[in-house]
Formats: sequence, C-alpha cells, structure tokens
Amino acid sequence: MLVLVLNSGSSSLKYQLMNPETAEVKATGLCERIGIDGRLVHEANEHKIKKDINMPTHKEAIEIVLDFLTNGEDKVIDSIDEIQAIGHRVVHGGEFFNQSVIVDDEVIAKLESLIPLAPLHNPANIMGMKIAQEIMPTKPNVAVFDTAFHQTMPASNYMYAVPYEDYKEHGVRKYGFHGTSHYYVSNEAKKMLNKEDSKVIVCHLGNGSSVCAVRDGKSIDTSMGLTPLEGLVMGTRSGDIDAGVLSYLMDKKGMTAEETVNYLNKKSGLLGVSGISSDLREIIEACENGDERAATTIDMKCNRIKKYICSYAGMLEGVDAICFTAGIGENADLIREKVCNGLEFMGVELDEDKNKVRNDENREINTNSSKTKIYVIPTNEEYVIANDTYKLVKA
Ligand code: ADP
Repeated sequence: MLVLVLNSGSSSLKYQLMNPETAEVKATGLCERIGIDGRLVHEANEHKIKKDINMPTHKEAIEIVLDFLTNGEDKVIDSIDEIQAIGHRVVHGGEFFNQSVIVDDEVIAKLESLIPLAPLHNPANIMGMKIAQEIMPTKPNVAVFDTAFHQTMPASNYMYAVPYEDYKEHGVRKYGFHGTSHYYVSNEAKKMLNKEDSKVIVCHLGNGSSVCAVRDGKSIDTSMGLTPLEGLVMGTRSGDIDAGVLSYLMDKKGMTAEETVNYLNKKSGLLGVSGISSDLREIIEACENGDERAATTIDMKCNRIKKYICSYAGMLEGVDAICFTAGIGENADLIREKVCNGLEFMGVELDEDKNKVRNDENREINTNSSKTKIYVIPTNEEYVIANDTYKLVKA
C-alpha cells in the first residue's frame, strides 16, 4: 500500500510517497512559490532534482508531483493507481477532532468553520484536499490534525482565565499544535522506557517550537495556545508575552491589532532579538565570534525551554524522560546542554560525549546514573500521517 502525504501551505506543498506498512519512503519533495513562479525540489531513488516549473495554483503543483512520481528516469510508480490514499496534514481541528478522519463534505464544512482560528493555515489545507479529490476522485483522503493529540488536556490546563462565555461563544482556549510530532516522539519514548505509566516531556524545537507534557501517552499540557504564537521563543515568534505589550506597541508604533500580531509572529523571536537571523545556526556562529546580543538570544531561548520543562515536571509530579526533536532539538547539542545543565536537582544528568553524537537514530544522551532519561528522537510526522491514513482506509 502506498500513501501520498500532502502538507499544503499558502504558497507551498510538501509531499512524501510512503509505504506505511514498512515506513519506506519512495519519494519526497517540496513545491515552492506556487502562484508566484514555481520551484520544485524532488528526491527519489537517491537522486535530488531542483527545477523551476510554472505553478499558477496548487492544482498544477499536485499534477507536476504526480507526473514526477509516474514518469521520467526517476519515476517510482507506473501509474497513479498504485497510490491507495492521500493523507493531509491539517493545522487546526478545533474541538471537533480528537483523531484523524476520512475526509467528506461534513469534515470540510467543519474545517471551514474553523478558518477564523487558523486563517493562515486551514484555507490552504482545505484547498489541498479539494484539489486531491478533483484530480484523484476515486482515492480516499484522510485529515490528520496538529491539534488532535492535545484534545486530552484537562479543562484546567486548556482554559484561559478570561470570562467563560468567551470559551463557550468564541472557542477561546488553548488548542496546542505539533500534536503529530508530540504523539510520535512520546510514543517512541514510551517504547524506549518500556513503561506503561510514563511521564514524558517532549521539546519540539524547530522554527516553530513547543513543549508538551505527556502522561501515560496522553497530552496533558502544551506550550502553544489558541494559535502557535504562545510559549517558547521561536524563529520569528515571540512566544509568551505580557498581553499588555500589544496595546503598548500599537500605541507607540502606530500599528493596528493585526499588524501587531503579525509583528509578534514574523519579526520577533530569535530574529527580532538577535537582529541576525531566524536560523539558530547563524546566531550560534555570531555568538562564537563574540556577539553579545546573539549570546543573550540563545540564553533566552534556552531559559524559556527550561522554565517549561520544570513547570511540566511539577505538573506531571515527576519525569521519566525529556525528549528533544526537530531541527534544533535533533542537531543543536549546545542548546540541549544549556537546557539540561542545572537540572541535576531533578535527576537530569547529561552525558557530554553522548550529547555530541549526531545521527538519525533514537538515542539516549544521559549518564548511566541519571534518574531521568534524556532522549534525542528524530520526529516523523509523515509516518504518523501515512499510518493513520492506512489504518482508516483499511478499516
Ligand atoms: P521547521 O519548523 O521549519 O520544520 P526545522 O525542524 O527544520 O524547522 O528546524 C529549523 C531550525 O533548526 C533552524 O533554526 C535551524 O537553524 C536549526 N538547526 C538545524 N540544524 C542545526 C544545527 N546543526 N545546529 C543548530 N541549529 C540547527
């Protein structure tokens, strides 16, 4: 069985053709600048192709991907008929969805009703589904939500302390994101711990970053909120901030509410504080060359992660494993070191040599005497999407 995994953004389309039974990836790629000009990066048979191709809409982008999969010297299948189903990454499932579902008109209507909560993401996700239905009308489509894993959070953790009517009438609450990654990583950690009643903290540190407290396989709290703006210091997002800063900035800089939220989403975080880049590698390099602002930026990033780990350890009443994943979590030993150092009081002891090892495997980087395990677990959201699609379509 082959599943085509699609992650549709407003001007991009990430894809992967995968066998969910074996986790074998047949092809992977990215269409960028859709609606502007169009660029494709396609990888199959250990061969990477980069090509400028006109992509006026996502429809042409998907057609080009299908063409690359089925034709030419790097084709991986003979015909589209070999693709059994399509799995879509969907950012916001609101309170409607606590697990993946087969896409039908009712699902699409619910996702459309959630657009006010995810105006940047859900319209593109819905468009991806509609185009897939149009181009491949006989194939089932499955929606896999970033929010679904966090639907197990108790009300005491997902509520904001605003009047209750705002929750009831407008859905103002914490939803959380990166759920597919937090599910995958915490589940791998559970297997590594070989323990049913596990207390796990997952740090998903990419451009977007979030922390999740997972008890016995269920999310009980996470750092992102109503939108992905809350929580950690991210590439361009501020994370936690006094809400009073909003009106103060609006006043001082003459910005509208929308412009201010955009400012906190796009111009803040690592980029805003360092003035260098949203890419942590460039900030680390500047820090090594003596840039003090870069050093402060790195400390801010690490302190915020540490603050969440400690608060979640308190809420879980202990912690069996702290897991690091995504671009920064998997690759930046400096960040892992700065986050873990000083947490010896709660049984966290990092092994410096193991921390420096870099590979694609799940690995343990704590000392032998550490009471708390520290894991690096490469995330695999596409596998979860393909696997959920497979299970739903097979049922
Ligand atoms: P996205 O959220 O866009 O999927 P990724 O998970 O790919 O992002 O993470 C991107 C981040 O990972 C960037 O800030 C990048 O600098 C960081 N990163 C990748 N490799 C390294 C590394 N070797 N050292 C430090 N940071 C790294």
